[in-house]
Amino acid sequence: MSLSFTYVQRERTLVFGAGSRQRLPEFVDQLGMRRIFLVADPNGEVLARSLVSQFADRVAVVWIDVRQHVPEDLAASARERATELHADGVITLGGGSATGLAKALALSHGIPIIALPTTYAGSEQTTIYGVTGNRHKQTGSNPVVLPRVSIYDAELTLDLPPSVTGASAFNALAHCVNGLYSTGANPVTTAISLEGVRAIRDSLPAVMASPRDIAARESLQFGAAMAGITLGDTSTGLHHKICHVLGGTFNLVHADAHSVVLPHSTDFNAAALPGEMKRLADVLGCQPRDVAASLWDLAKACGVPTSLAQLGLGRENLREVAARAAAEIKSNPRPATEEDLLVLLERAHAGTRPISA
Ligand code: NAD
Repeated sequence: MSLSFTYVQRERTLVFGAGSRQRLPEFVDQLGMRRIFLVADPNGEVLARSLVSQFADRVAVVWIDVRQHVPEDLAASARERATELHADGVITLGGGSATGLAKALALSHGIPIIALPTTYAGSEQTTIYGVTGNRHKQTGSNPVVLPRVSIYDAELTLDLPPSVTGASAFNALAHCVNGLYSTGANPVTTAISLEGVRAIRDSLPAVMASPRDIAARESLQFGAAMAGITLGDTSTGLHHKICHVLGGTFNLVHADAHSVVLPHSTDFNAAALPGEMKRLADVLGCQPRDVAASLWDLAKACGVPTSLAQLGLGRENLREVAARAAAEIKSNPRPATEEDLLVLLERAHAGTRPISA
């Protein structure tokens, strides 16, 4: 990798620590929020209301209609409400779906976001937004949607069910792995990616064994934040395009799709990425040729989905997924035709362990 590169540091604040949600009023003041649009995951509504109780007079609405991939009609109705209420800021408590809706509002209304993430999607660290209509997820990038403050309070994640925890952590892992070789990767993003892999690799098995292990949850959140930064600072490629089709067109759960596809997208690209596989192997504690298999083993050990069949996707749909994804891929370490993607998807559908190269 050349040492001639540009890294743009974005204006954002990350706050870590158990109990750090107590600092929310400080940031609400700092950003001058007076008519707050509070977006809360339905499973976190009670918690969200308690978080804002100290400044309830500034909360214009508590919005709990949150859906993954931000359907167009949902974005439209939230935007209409934000206009009626003259909202001047958004606070989110939830996963990538809550953050995604907040981003739709930031994009249309130019208002700042404070995010309190409760999953490991990492969306709160990216300038990427997405809206889905007509079976197609349309994404874009704009600095206005990057949350100004992200508060990582692991106490907010203690009740996240294992089924969401494992897959969501794999979503973060996918950002880190892909961040190593996506367009825009540079020595800073590489360091961030590897640190993210290390944190997730070290903490995920502990969290799955003891979901209320606060130290392990903190480490997992740190890994997710690194994942979000690297995703936002590089770009998306083959892996993400496949996952976006699986989610946007076939409505598979976003994090589950990432979990299943990651070992196979890594396997597909491994031969073209010897340096990256070596770095990953060092962190994962395996041989470079075993990186994809090692990711699959980690998924199995953590009870994370490993097959598209298990997620309910019929085999007859694989051709459409391959065709749609192939049409969207702009760059990849090795050429990827529709036929290549079909082979990759067949393996992901069957859930077979990638064989060492
Ligand atoms: P999610 O936000 O839909 O949450 C997953 C599940 O976890 C939901 O059932 C939710 O109710 C539950 N949940 C969340 N917090 C909880 C808590 N504290 N306790 C109990 N249950 C809780 O899923 P996600 O994987 O976080 O996000 C997926 C969405 O985010 C997708 O639409 C994806 O495209 C988007 N995303 C965007 C980016 C980006 O950079 N723009 C990055 C990653 C993901």
